Amino acid sequence: MTGQNIQPIFILPESASRSTGREAQKTNIEAAKAVANTVKSTLGPKGMDKMLVDATGDIVITNDGVTILEEMQIEHPAAKMIVEVAKTQEDEVGDGTTSSVILAGELLKNAETLIDQGIHPTVIAEGYKLAADKSQEILEKIAEKVDINNKETLYNIAKTAMTGKHVEWAKEILGKISVDAVLQVMEDSEVDIENIKLEKKQGGSIHDSELISGIVIDKERVHSNMPKTVKNAKILLLDTPLEVKETGIDSKIQISDPDKLKAFLDQEEKTIKELVDKVVKTKANVVFCQKGIDDLAQYFLAKKEIFAARRVSQSDMKKLARATGAKIISNLNEISSSELGSAGIVSEKKLGTENMTFIEACKNPKAVSLIIRGGTEHVVDEVERAVKDAVGDLAAAIIEGKFVVGGGAVQIELSRQLNDYAQKLSGRKQLAVQQFAKSIEIIPKTLAENAGLDPIDKITELKSSHEKGIAKAGLNVMNGKVENLLTKGVIEPLKINTQAIKSSSEAALMILRIDDVISAGKLDKGPSGMPPGGMPY
Ligand code: ADP
Ligand code: MG
Repeated sequence: MTGQNIQPIFILPESASRSTGREAQKTNIEAAKAVANTVKSTLGPKGMDKMLVDATGDIVITNDGVTILEEMQIEHPAAKMIVEVAKTQEDEVGDGTTSSVILAGELLKNAETLIDQGIHPTVIAEGYKLAADKSQEILEKIAEKVDINNKETLYNIAKTAMTGKHVEWAKEILGKISVDAVLQVMEDSEVDIENIKLEKKQGGSIHDSELISGIVIDKERVHSNMPKTVKNAKILLLDTPLEVKETGIDSKIQISDPDKLKAFLDQEEKTIKELVDKVVKTKANVVFCQKGIDDLAQYFLAKKEIFAARRVSQSDMKKLARATGAKIISNLNEISSSELGSAGIVSEKKLGTENMTFIEACKNPKAVSLIIRGGTEHVVDEVERAVKDAVGDLAAAIIEGKFVVGGGAVQIELSRQLNDYAQKLSGRKQLAVQQFAKSIEIIPKTLAENAGLDPIDKITELKSSHEKGIAKAGLNVMNGKVENLLTKGVIEPLKINTQAIKSSSEAALMILRIDDVISAGKLDKGPSGMPPGGMPY
């Protein structure tokens, strides 16, 4: 072997690129920090907005972390992992997306300081893992219990979620309808936000937004002779069509004899009449059908003054069932009147420019609609996002039964207790836990920065309040003061924080452990010389 010249061996295609070791880590950390930096200025009530313009010229104005990152179509693989943090946060809680991304970026930034000091990323990762686990324990202890009979608490959670969105001046009404909606659909301290249907319609003002004690669906009645309004509605939900069954295969019937044709049509009419008779027999005066309703069936139903809508979506059918107490029926031969639902009033009304069906005044509905109004498209969209945050936060607070104090109070307290914990460790792990604790302070620091306050002064002030035992001391960005924010009602569900720590630390750990990035070359975009838009058909 000796003396022989060894040829370099290429195991990757020519188009692939590769970076390893320190260089790979550096670029990944830079990418993660870049993502965090893009959303940083939007954090908190005093955060700024972003205007995002997509390729078709559509505009979104928002300060919602996940919305911004989704619209940006980020490509760098490590940056994408940070975007995933925001998406997980969105899926699991619905709020705290900006915070989680900023935290992930800061964890990596501070890990870099340690790497520069010669500490191996694996050791940092171990220390971070310890700190993340300990954080969960500390957060559980810091948190306060949610009393669902205390409407003030719930109301404050909803308001905190919406602070700083474009709905500032309508927080009262939106907070109230969000709390009422969540309490209405709650069962045994469980809230499934799927049961709150948000119906946004441009037009009117935010103040016209309202909670419907029932469901609104974007369907009209199928026949203009049907009543437009039905009081004391008895509602039948059908997931079978009111038509003569299709054979499933395209078939053609050839009839040459006119008598036979008449007999055929008579037969069809008879079948449909029988179907409608079965509906009439249930004494229902409103029918929602998930499938089609034949023209003739529409006519017969209208004659009996029954309100009917067809092709109602499956998810609306489920909500209608929960709102009205009806069962969804598949077999018309087996209906008992107890399977009908009820509503005080069912009516077709105009909402914005569209005709919709309102199923209202339901007795104790377990699914409800929130109608969201606003003058322009951008306003309704942002109102919807704000209400989603409020509803999501309320659900999270009720399900877990715990809340914490916002405005950085929870982070400063967590950081303080993590530092105490670090004292019990030794060596490099201790350093990693301390950096983790320091990273968490990025939230209050950013809140201060975005409010035009001096971050160093404010962090010092916050820390000294917490040292003195004022664990609820946070930065009130509305007046720039460090004060007890529990008494000011700046509170949020514990889940936002436990989830943010969990997903941001997981992403940071994953990125820290990467020391080799191998990217395959870009896929060939088709034969060269092709006009954009691909092959003509
Ligand atoms: P995220 O996407 O992380 O939810 P937000 O822009 O909604 O970002 O900001 C949330 C942060 O704002 C939380 O840390 C919350 O505690 C804080 N916050 C809300 N209201 C106030 C307030 N009045 N004073 C200070 N901080 C507040
Ligand atoms: Mg928020």
